[in-house]
Amino acid sequence: MITSASSLLDLADPTDVDALREALADQDPRRQLTPLGLRRLVVASDASTRVVPELSDLLAARGVQLAGARVVLLVDDVAIQRAGRDLKDDVEAALRAAVGATGAVTRYVVRDEHGDHAVGPLHADETALSAAARAVTGADAVVSVGGGTITDIGKVATSRTGNAPLVVVQTAASVDGFTDDVSVVLASGVKKTIPSRWPDVVLGDLETVAGAPPQMAAAGYGELLSMFTAPADWYLAALTGLDETFHRAPVDLLAVVGRGLAEWSPGVVRGEPEAFEALTRALDVRGIATGVSGGTAVLSGVEHLVSHVLDMHHAALAQPIGLHGAQVGVASVVAAAAWELLFERLAEVGGARAAARLHVDPEAALQRCRDAFGHLDDDGALAAECGRRYELKQAELATRRQRLVAVLERWDEHAEVLRSLVRPSAELREGLRAAGVAATFADLVPSVDAGLARWAVASCHLMRERLVVVDLLDALGWWTPAEVERCLSALEPQEAAL
Ligand SMILES: [Zn+2]
Repeated sequence: MITSASSLLDLADPTDVDALREALADQDPRRQLTPLGLRRLVVASDASTRVVPELSDLLAARGVQLAGARVVLLVDDVAIQRAGRDLKDDVEAALRAAVGATGAVTRYVVRDEHGDHAVGPLHADETALSAAARAVTGADAVVSVGGGTITDIGKVATSRTGNAPLVVVQTAASVDGFTDDVSVVLASGVKKTIPSRWPDVVLGDLETVAGAPPQMAAAGYGELLSMFTAPADWYLAALTGLDETFHRAPVDLLAVVGRGLAEWSPGVVRGEPEAFEALTRALDVRGIATGVSGGTAVLSGVEHLVSHVLDMHHAALAQPIGLHGAQVGVASVVAAAAWELLFERLAEVGGARAAARLHVDPEAALQRCRDAFGHLDDDGALAAECGRRYELKQAELATRRQRLVAVLERWDEHAEVLRSLVRPSAELREGLRAAGVAATFADLVPSVDAGLARWAVASCHLMRERLVVVDLLDALGWWTPAEVERCLSALEPQEAAL
């Protein structure tokens, strides 16, 4: 089930999309991966100045000339500076010169139509998505300039309206959603990931990334850490049969991304250009790993669930939502500690004896979600939605009980693979500290106090149908308040524990 993918590990530059496509094909003889639809990825200090030649090539491949074309420039209302100039103005001017008098460039600003900034900046909700879709209808090409949200909106808007050629100018290194074929949207107050499309070209402009608010890159570093925990959750889900999509190639691609991380990451907060470049490349290649894997599970496990629970809490109370990557970084330490707990307990008890402890109860699922999330709203809608999804997972686990027992009976061989997919919690914790980014729940903005952190970690697996290590710990009776506390204590340096 798990074999080495050497040609991926040998890739000198994983942002060379053509070479990457070939290496992925090599490792995927049965064509299980989603084909990589991204044509070009440029990560360079002057990448945004390449919009015109890249767009021209893209249109030429479709037999369309850029001169005379109708181009929509999709942006939000946040000012973005590049080397002291307005980046959006510069991109618009370059496009106008290129399309000439017979063409047209329309700048469309996606705004938060609710005029309510209490829950943070622009969100990709249905109002924003449909407005953007109307704006790009009939365009020969679309260029988006901005961060993760505007990119996600551009991908959805064009996918709904005939997939016009799409060039993305990436201006921040905070998330990895620029280079994949899905979008994070807000539906009924809850963030979810939906299929959208690959951008044709992504231009990661390092000059702009370096000038973005420092908390963006700090969050980007936190986001990276999920690659040291989530692949193990993904593999566990494959073992139990709840998600059969596990594939070695995206995991090997992540191993390439992880090279040298400890050396360059302290430079992120110091604002070193090499660190911004390494971070932007790493996030962009992670996006590709997500896209080709056919889902988000490769990079989204316990650490993401904890972040989503915090978002749900903040949104329900109309409080500002924290930066996703920063939350993921802190929670990844807890996720790694949950794996350590499982490895330790199963080594003590033995898989076969542990199997006798298995307890899965789909009938209790909804009530457990009501207990965990019922306080968040008046009508219990959030608890009901989570309950529906958690119940599905519990029912699937109950159906596959024999398979789960078989996994536990051969635990030693599975543990070896799983251990190779997760890094020690202490290493992740020290990585956050060395990088100078949020390293505890209290460090997050808004700050998450001990009670809220405890609740988010304890309840994370109740939120969705995705199987994670906490589901297995819980089924084995090893997710009591004491065990949650133990995993949270992994965030404290050892000296402090003495
Ligand atoms: Zn993420």
